[in-house]
Amino acid sequence: MKSALITGVSGQDGSYLAEYLLERGYQVWGLVRREPESARWLRAILPRLEVVYGDLRDAESLAVAFQKAWPDEVYNLAGQVFVPTSWEVPAETFDINVGGLARLLQLVERTKRDTRVYQASSSEMIGNWDGLCDEQTRLRPTSPYGVSKLAAHRLAEVYRQRGLFVVGGILFNHESPRRGPEMVTRKISRVASRWLLGDRTKLALENLQARRDWGFAGDYIKAMHAMLQLAEPQDFVIGTGVSHSVSDFLTEIMAAMGELGPAANVPRTVEEWVEVNPQFLRTGEIHDLRADARRAQRALGWQPAVDFKQLVRMMLESDLAAARGK
Ligand code: GDP
Repeated sequence: MKSALITGVSGQDGSYLAEYLLERGYQVWGLVRREPESARWLRAILPRLEVVYGDLRDAESLAVAFQKAWPDEVYNLAGQVFVPTSWEVPAETFDINVGGLARLLQLVERTKRDTRVYQASSSEMIGNWDGLCDEQTRLRPTSPYGVSKLAAHRLAEVYRQRGLFVVGGILFNHESPRRGPEMVTRKISRVASRWLLGDRTKLALENLQARRDWGFAGDYIKAMHAMLQLAEPQDFVIGTGVSHSVSDFLTEIMAAMGELGPAANVPRTVEEWVEVNPQFLRTGEIHDLRADARRAQRALGWQPAVDFKQLVRMMLESDLAAARGK
């Protein structure tokens, strides 16, 4: 039986990946900082999950977790993931996002060199770039978060040159009902669900023009696993190739609201339920991101299964069920 250690197992990607690996017969070890019972998405799989306590900032805790799991594969998905927070706590962002990987790679190199490592790299490393982005696109990040992800990505590369099997998955934005509530898609789907139930509290957003290549996290974790099964380690871009604006997301969710709730609770215009506070406009805002995932398609046979419309509807349905207390 293969063993996998997942850092960030209680997050969106970690929980989908844990489910996927359990289905495939893995013994799954999940690194958590807090009681896993509080992680809603883990409840269903907790009886089958091996829980280990630890923190990417604490080398000793990682060493203990690593010894227990003795993993064939490590998925480093934990991190400080929110761009605005990275301006508030840049050093901590580095300690977790870069130092964490450094601690893991040092452990692998010293104790079990055949362990394969997946590093959660990010499209935020790219910064502003017009057009589709592939593995060769130049990387010029615009936030401490983006710089931290780039540093970790390069660290993975130098350890790969020293002979370890390490890959960086350059994942574009990926969402789901489990997305953190601070991210724009989930922020929107939560407020939309409350509108459908008659709560008229307005949604405050920052920038409706920003565009992202939004895919479904449940599809993306399959690519992570596939990357670690290759004969040779290499980096991959993962995304759908299509970008939408925040405004498109709002329009799409209003259509879904019309299908799921009473017409009286569906706003007719964006202005009716959304207010824009341009003073919150981000420093170094990334205006558009689109992935060219052809290498992943060729080498991994990977393709996204869920499209934008389905993703929006799935998020609304889930938040609606939660708002109804189901
Ligand atoms: P990111 O791409 O990792 O930064 O993911 P986010 O979901 O945080 O942001 C995606 C885009 O939505 C960015 O361009 C944000 O500036 C934009 N956006 C507009 N309004 C909001 C908001 O209220 N919250 C967040 N998180 N993002 C917003």
